[in-house]
Amino acid sequence: MDDEDAREAVRRHLERRGELAQAGPPPTWSLTRHTLVTGRVVRSIESRMERPEKEPGDFGLSDRPVYDVLADYRLDPPRDPSQPTMLRLVKRGSEAVEPCRRCDGGKVGCPECSGRKTVRCDRRIECEVCGGVDSCLNCRSGDSDKDSEAGSEAARPAPVRTEKRLTCAECGERGAACRSCLGRGEVDCLECEGTGRRDCPRCDRAGTVAHDDCEGTGIFTTWIGGTIGRSPDTKPLRWPEHGLSWWARNRARRNGSWRTAVLDGRAGVASVGELDDEAVKGLEPRMAKADGEVALRATLDVLPLVRVDVPLLPHRVLYAHPAPAAHPGATVYGVFAVPSRQRTVQIAAAALGALAVLASLWWFLS
Ligand SMILES: [Zn+2]
Ligand SMILES: [Zn+2]
Ligand SMILES: [Zn+2]
Ligand SMILES: [Zn+2]
Ligand SMILES: [Zn+2]
Repeated sequence: MDDEDAREAVRRHLERRGELAQAGPPPTWSLTRHTLVTGRVVRSIESRMERPEKEPGDFGLSDRPVYDVLADYRLDPPRDPSQPTMLRLVKRGSEAVEPCRRCDGGKVGCPECSGRKTVRCDRRIECEVCGGVDSCLNCRSGDSDKDSEAGSEAARPAPVRTEKRLTCAECGERGAACRSCLGRGEVDCLECEGTGRRDCPRCDRAGTVAHDDCEGTGIFTTWIGGTIGRSPDTKPLRWPEHGLSWWARNRARRNGSWRTAVLDGRAGVASVGELDDEAVKGLEPRMAKADGEVALRATLDVLPLVRVDVPLLPHRVLYAHPAPAAHPGATVYGVFAVPSRQRTVQIAAAALGALAVLASLWWFLS
């Protein structure tokens, strides 16, 4: 878009609005060229680290690349700098196997039974048939309800005499006792058969369990490990940084036909055709190589923009720009107007004036 394209686009814009006569002759208009750029620079930043590593058992390292000096290990730049990657390597000859010093062949004493293989258990448990409550119609389970006349215990219905009741082992009454516990209210524990100890549930009578640290293997694999990490660092690009109002930038973003340029590697911004010298000079430092940088990709959305000031229309500024065309190959220029700085100040002053009137009115009425 050259100056004549811009002037012609503005002329037609004003003509359509019936303001051409008011605007005066086109040669009196003043033109300023801008190149608008938005976008981002993505750098892949690499860091290399070396440290001793350790894993339980016979740990497989065969799939890891081997290095002699980590800093000298050659690795291609990433194709996509925006993707984080991590490569783990092994220093040549550093692999070794060492025994676990905190167990015996992968085993440690069982923490549940302290190595005794059995744990304590209740000798007798409550009878499941009568629940210990109505074990004998005569004894009534430990005489619990003789003291408490009222309450839920006393309110329970009396046990029913059935043909299945047997002679009570406690009081000798015939046909009065629970057939399972014979009036005792409790029976031998099935788990320990009344011995008071049962097999340890944790170690299954072994007295030992697998050691967690070495995963029961009794050994560790040790080596010197290297890590090459690459992570993206993204910074926004914006040009020009100043000298263009928020209104103008916003309208240009919505209406303009932006062209996207992608710079890979170290191709300079000067290779983007649409950029003027000032934009190239302003953007170049932002492409400078950063510490640890192994790749760079810059994405630039570029729009040429011509500012047209019409002295006889001081309240607005007109901008001409390439616009999306109906069919490819055609060149169309669009124009938009934003309030001039002078007009913006006027609007702000008017708004402040209205506020002042409201405030004094409120003060006056209250
Ligand atoms: Zn161990
Ligand atoms: Zn009894
Ligand atoms: Zn019973
Ligand atoms: Zn038991
Ligand atoms: Zn145990």
